[in-house]
Amino acid sequence: MIKMGLKELGIDEIRKRAKRLREKVYSREKTIRLESEKDRFCKENAIAPIIATICDQWINADDAFEFPLWLSKQLEGDLSAELIMDAGEEKIRHLLEVFMADRWPSSMEKERRGEYLKSVPEWIIKTCKKIIERFDGNPDNMFKKGSYTPSELYFILRGLDGIAQKKASMIVRDFIEGITPWAIGLRERLKREGIDFKVEGVEHSSVPVDTHVVRVFCRIVGEDSGALKDEDILKYYPDIQYFAKMTCPEFPANVDGLLWEVGRKYCRAYRPNCRECPLRDLPCEYAKRL
Ligand code: SF4
Repeated sequence: MIKMGLKELGIDEIRKRAKRLREKVYSREKTIRLESEKDRFCKENAIAPIIATICDQWINADDAFEFPLWLSKQLEGDLSAELIMDAGEEKIRHLLEVFMADRWPSSMEKERRGEYLKSVPEWIIKTCKKIIERFDGNPDNMFKKGSYTPSELYFILRGLDGIAQKKASMIVRDFIEGITPWAIGLRERLKREGIDFKVEGVEHSSVPVDTHVVRVFCRIVGEDSGALKDEDILKYYPDIQYFAKMTCPEFPANVDGLLWEVGRKYCRAYRPNCRECPLRDLPCEYAKRL
């Protein structure tokens, strides 16, 4: 079989895939997660989704989003930057260790767990300190201007410790979609103050790129998707952004949800489940070879 990839595929085939992907992106149902107590807490409490996002690193995302509610109960107060600062880094570290005791992913090695317990409480404290010093203790004050471009939001979020490139661009996408607890809660609280929170220039949004997104993109267009290395994220970053702009020019970051979901559910590094994958008929070059 002839090897395919971006050099061989040609613009018509790339356009065809972008067009079909677009149909799938827009037919995908997006759910608002507000049923659980932890999600409602992340909606109602301004600091909770920030703490959850900082914790959402290497561990199960559900656990990361459970932690702020649990922490609030342990600290016996309304969770705030001040309450966390008063508790101090060591207490937060101890509580995080207690919380994580039976929640560590089995694949997470002891050394990595130690690294997590060292870094995350540090980031939480640094971020709370920043919120107190720069935003008067209220995280919502970061967004008081009301109207922001995706780039402005990205750099506001990048200013918080524990929120790196991928998380910042994911939150920007979430704020545009407005269906996560953080986005809904923020919008409601600002509205009560007469501020209409909105993202302008959505066409300038970027795809939050991770290994799932890179693998799926590479396989769709026939690029080598063997054992992806960290540098592959950088290598394919421009290709993915341009493909996203071709797919959803009005909101490029919109392609992320579907690519990421396919990456997690079907497009595993080894033995991808192409038979059940919703992107098989784009067509996907990798699936054609099977
Ligand atoms: S069809 Fe297979 S290789 Fe292609 S994206 Fe889906 S799971 Fe991955």
